Amino acid sequence: MLEIIQIPVLSDNYIYLLHDSVSGETAAVDPAVAEPVLAMLKQRDWQLTYILNTHHHSDHVGGNLELKHETGCQIIGSAKDKHRIPAIDRCVSEGERITVGSHSAQVIDTAGHTSGHIVYYFAEDNALFCGDTLFVMGCGRLFEGSAEQLWQSLQTLKALPAETRVYCAHEYTENNARFALSVESANLALHNKIALVQQQRAKGLPAVPSTIAEELATNPFFREDSTAIRASLHCMDNKPVEVFAELRRLKDSF
Ligand code: ZN
Ligand code: FE
Repeated sequence: MLEIIQIPVLSDNYIYLLHDSVSGETAAVDPAVAEPVLAMLKQRDWQLTYILNTHHHSDHVGGNLELKHETGCQIIGSAKDKHRIPAIDRCVSEGERITVGSHSAQVIDTAGHTSGHIVYYFAEDNALFCGDTLFVMGCGRLFEGSAEQLWQSLQTLKALPAETRVYCAHEYTENNARFALSVESANLALHNKIALVQQQRAKGLPAVPSTIAEELATNPFFREDSTAIRASLHCMDNKPVEVFAELRRLKDSF
């Protein structure tokens, strides 16, 4: 089994620790900061083997140098971000595989939020670590890519098995839910999901992970074919990518 620990840090980031008990290997996904990771490693008596970075933003790589210095871990990131991921050791590209013990992940190129964004998909473990590409009921902003690029990237994630758990890097769920409701107010699945999220957040629990199935039913950025969304955007006859671009534009100023 791949043990997954979720560590909330900064205002709304999540760092994930992945641990394979057979080999003892441990990976940290997007360590924004080092200290809470070091504390958790100590508490569990784990050694850090890898850092898996999804992209170069500081709230995803901020702990790289200190963690490498303290643990000697190997840092894995996109070949496209070779010059801007601190202390990167191994550059990976679309289709390559990385392993944590016997657990294997496929690297998927998801350009859009940044030009070098990648995600790590552990098929046998039903787990997707998607950084800032896909959020619960939302998606990343277009900082370095086009709407076309991010839309293409999301098409790949949409096609993953429905039961895949979506481990994104931020707790933006409640704000995303408000936007989703503003463009698709009659979506029953969305209302049910929001009720659940509110219960979780009221108890101080994360609303992450969700699943691909839940995202297909509730995330407007997965639902550009929805007649209700198209009607509320006055985009009835537009291409899916155009509806997506309009959703992203509206969300930017929501
Ligand atoms: Zn980012
Ligand atoms: Fe981020």
